[in-house]
Amino acid sequence: MKTLFEKIIDREIPAHIIYEDEFCLAFHDIHPQAPTHILLIPKKPIAKLADAQANDQLLLGHLLMTVNKITQDLEIADAFRLVINNGAKAGQTVFHLHLHILSGRPFHWPPG
Ligand code: 5GP
Repeated sequence: MKTLFEKIIDREIPAHIIYEDEFCLAFHDIHPQAPTHILLIPKKPIAKLADAQANDQLLLGHLLMTVNKITQDLEIADAFRLVINNGAKAGQTVFHLHLHILSGRPFHWPPG
């Protein structure tokens, strides 16, 4: 069965998509936690970061470099927070690896 994010990749569920290439897709979070809240997902359905394999190394690097491209394009490269929730107890609700890119407000440490 497809995850919610696979359905977004396949255009079965609408999303405000801001970036796409062969390997990944980025779109606005439906419940933004900051003025800018983008989700970046690999097209490959990896359930969570801990499930990534050695042969996903290039893909994971590509995702981080894509964060740089997106934040430069959005002119938020000077201040953003990147979050990956891994596992239900860490707050993960959609089991398709995704990077939260958050910007536009102060962020505190430690995170909640
Ligand atoms: P998680 O809690 O798994 O780290 O993050 C899942 C994120 O997906 C949440 O921030 C949630 O708001 C977002 N989300 C859930 N359903 C949808 C949807 O249908 N469309 C979009 N664009 N985001 C969604």
